[in-house]
Amino acid sequence: MEVKPKFLIKNGKRLDGRKVGEWREIKITTGVIPNADGSCQVDFGKTKVIAAVYGPRELHPKHMVLSDRALVRARYDMLSFSVEDRKRPGPGRREIEISKVIAEALRSVVMVEKFPRSVIDVFVTVIQADASTRIAGLNAASVALADAGIPMKGLVTGVAFGKIYDETGKGVMVADVFKPEDQWGEADIAYAKSIANDEVVLLQMDGDVTKKEFLEGKAMADKAIEYTYQEQVKALKAKYEGD
Ligand code: UDP
Repeated sequence: MEVKPKFLIKNGKRLDGRKVGEWREIKITTGVIPNADGSCQVDFGKTKVIAAVYGPRELHPKHMVLSDRALVRARYDMLSFSVEDRKRPGPGRREIEISKVIAEALRSVVMVEKFPRSVIDVFVTVIQADASTRIAGLNAASVALADAGIPMKGLVTGVAFGKIYDETGKGVMVADVFKPEDQWGEADIAYAKSIANDEVVLLQMDGDVTKKEFLEGKAMADKAIEYTYQEQVKALKAKYEGD
């Protein structure tokens, strides 16, 4: 069983050695599922997530058809071996909620009006979880959509941030929370935006922060988002320019 550490940050260093605004190693690979129309794997440190996109294609069941636009459907799932305590297969309440927020975030960038009466299916699968899986999944999904050639107003890019306590008992804001910080921290905030539209597309908070703390954490996350965005673009270019 895991033992709760006395503090999550000491002398400005987090449990994994990172500084407050530092993100984990980010690796983005496009085209990992050749049978899909578009796909991408995103690793945020030990969090590893694959997104696969199918469509636009005919929508079943028919009663879900939207006559003026495409339906963007998302299904988020965690593999049983992706977490320490085996996860029961299939979607529970948590997976249904995450699928919903991922679909909503993607709908704000996909040009759905270009494909009336069709569906764009996005499957997000967590192969290893170390917190921020919905954010890693969203980053992967937006690259997979672009890989599938689906017109978008811009990519979606996210980085979570949170509040943890240091050795003096003071709350400290940090970017890109990992599992111990998610589990034992005071707050974690999933945050994603469309840089092209300057629009926040996902914001969920678990825990409590002041407005000042929120803005401080968000500013750190924004820096990490800029970096992640560049990596997303690089991953797409690498596939299509072959470098
Ligand atoms: N987690 C777990 N078992 C579960 C659900 C979550 O071990 O059934 C872990 C996993 O590492 C996950 C983290 O808890 O990434 C945080 O989960 P949360 O629901 O906050 O979503 P996330 O941060 O992954 O988007």
